[in-house]
Order: sequence, then structure tokens, then C-alpha cells
Amino acid sequence: MPILNELKLAKELMMFPSITPIDAGAINFLSKKLRSIGFKCKILEFKSKNSKPVKNLYAKLGKSEPNFCYAGHTDVVPPGNLNDWTVNPFKPAVKRNYLIGRGANDMKASIACFVSAVSKFKSKKFKGSISLLITGDEEGEAINGSKKVVEYLKRKKEKINFCLVGEPTNQNKLGEMIKIGRRGSITGFLTVHGVQGHVAYPHDANNPAPIMVKILNKIENIKLDKGTKNFQPSNLEIVKMNIENTADNVIPSEASATFNIRFNNKHSSSSLKRKLNNIFRKICKENKCSFKISYMVSGEAFITVPNQTTKMIQNTIKKITKIKPKLSTSGGTSDARFIRKISPCVEFGLVGKTMHKIDEAVSVTDLKKLTNIYKNILENYFK
Ligand SMILES: [Zn+2]
Repeated sequence: MPILNELKLAKELMMFPSITPIDAGAINFLSKKLRSIGFKCKILEFKSKNSKPVKNLYAKLGKSEPNFCYAGHTDVVPPGNLNDWTVNPFKPAVKRNYLIGRGANDMKASIACFVSAVSKFKSKKFKGSISLLITGDEEGEAINGSKKVVEYLKRKKEKINFCLVGEPTNQNKLGEMIKIGRRGSITGFLTVHGVQGHVAYPHDANNPAPIMVKILNKIENIKLDKGTKNFQPSNLEIVKMNIENTADNVIPSEASATFNIRFNNKHSSSSLKRKLNNIFRKICKENKCSFKISYMVSGEAFITVPNQTTKMIQNTIKKITKIKPKLSTSGGTSDARFIRKISPCVEFGLVGKTMHKIDEAVSVTDLKKLTNIYKNILENYFK
């Protein structure tokens, strides 16, 4: 069975212009590589109304438990202006020891490191199985991606005992940070309806603008919590305010605003909705107007309380990078929000400083180190 080189595999994966949710052949290619080192691969294509079909992959080596899973995504964000890039983002190249191209750290190269690590690890006999849960829909809507794969695995009664998500978790240096949970995210879309009228006759109208200002002032100033041992304080940000009005002698009939809350595990999306709806109701009642609110929940807050495996991963990273990684819940959401429903989850990957940017890059030295880290994690896990 072949030993797969992480740099070569990373480059090959990055050649596929798999701009979310387009697959461009990436999942098939990865399956072929995994089959070459003994994996059984199941390609899962999911589609639903109003969203594009997405290819996903569940690959498994071995049958018995424990099942150690690596999760990641082959889709990437658009490259932006090609002329601004040092290299063609889909013709990756190494310059001054950095591999440049789309997906260099978020996160095709991380997948390459894990696959390479398995190809090096499996020369030894081990009891248990190794699996990969790869989606083509992480950067986009995330409707037909990991969420559906998790539902599929649940239906099939497939057990995952521990999951390592390979997202770029380090800001500056490999080894800085393991993510053990994530904050939740909810977006609210609020419209306040007043009564339109002439600015010179305000008593015949009801201006929604100052009412919206009152509401926003109120919600902006709620202290949601003080944070917890593992989480920073929850925070609400107003991100849009809008009044459609083409005249300046007309009191508008409606005003709208959008806000987003990143919240810790002291709240749930439903407890936040209740809290906010009460405020909207009260202020609108006082001001004799009505409102409409809708929400989009991207994920609830969650944490995998550090266990033996978390500690083993932390020690393995420290041994190789000489840095003791911090256990953190900072940053945005990731697919761990779906996978944690069936397995404890931690995240560790490359340095994400240039993710989503022009000239996304990763140090070739880091690729070697991460492969070594993943290989050592497997060795310690199956010891
Ligand atoms: Zn990513």
C-alpha cells in the first residue's frame, strides 16, 4: 500500500476549483486516494428544495470500535480577483517555503495531512477504525453537507467515538489553539410598522424610526452574561438598519434592522428569542405600533468537556510544536456544530491567518508537522 505525501496530495486537491457548493471532482479524487490505502468509501449526494445538490464522503478503514473520525470540507470560498494573486489560486505552487493557493489552510491541505498520516500509520496493526467525514458544503449554506451526513450516520447506527475537525484553529503559529466548542449564532430580522404621514402633521402619523432607535438602544445594552470558564461573554451586534424612503417630507411607514448574537452555553436560541421578543412587544405596545421578527439560527453553543483524548491531543501537539495549545471556544461556527450531536468533537488544523484571503498560504514545514501530529494522535489513540 502506498505512502501518500502530504504536499503532493494537498496540491492535487487544490487543483480542483471546488468553489462552494461546486464539487468539480474533488470528492471523487479524494475517494480514489482513500481507496488506494484501503478505505471503503461512500459518496453521499444530498439535495433539497431551494438548495443546490452537494457531494459528501464518508470513508472508513476497519470495522471495529473505537472509530476515530476526521472531519473536513473540500469546498472553498471564491478566489476574488485573480490578478491580485501571486499564483493562479487553482494552480498551487510553493514559493519561499509557502504553499500558495485556495484551500491551502481552509482546509484541503489539512485533509491531505490527515490522509498522509493514515497512510504512514496503518503499516502498524491497530484495533478499531479510522473514518473521514468530508463535505462539499461547509463554506456555503451547509444544508446538504455535514448536517445530512450526520443524519445518515445516525440512521445507519454508525458509531463515531471521537471526532477531530481539521479546520484552521491557529491564528499565528501551529500549536497555539485547539477548539473544544463554539459559540452559538443567531441573526434577527426586525421590522417596525408605524403609520406613514406628512412630516408637518406628525400627530396624524406614527414614525417607526424613533421606535426602532429605542428598541436597538435597549437590545444593544442588555448584558447577556459575564462569560464562563470556557466562553467569552455573549454579544449582540447591530449589523443593518434600513428605512426605504425617497422623500424627506414623508414620515416612513416602516423601519427595519438586522442584528446578530454570538452566544455562549448560558443561552439557547429559543431563550434569546423569548427575551428579545418580550422587549419588542413591550416597546411597540408603549408606542402603539406593530412589529415583525424572524430569526435565522446558525448553531447553538456547545462544548466538549475536555476528556482523556482531548488531553492526549493537547500533549501530542505540545510534544511536536513545543507549544502548549490553549483550549478555546472563540471564533465563528464550524461543522462541529452538527457532528457534536453524535460524537465528542475537538478541532485542530493549520494556521488560518490567510484563510479566505488573496494568496491563501501555508508553510510547508507546518504541513510536515501537522502530518506528524495527526500520525502521533492516531498512534496514541489506538495504543
Ligand atoms: Zn473551513
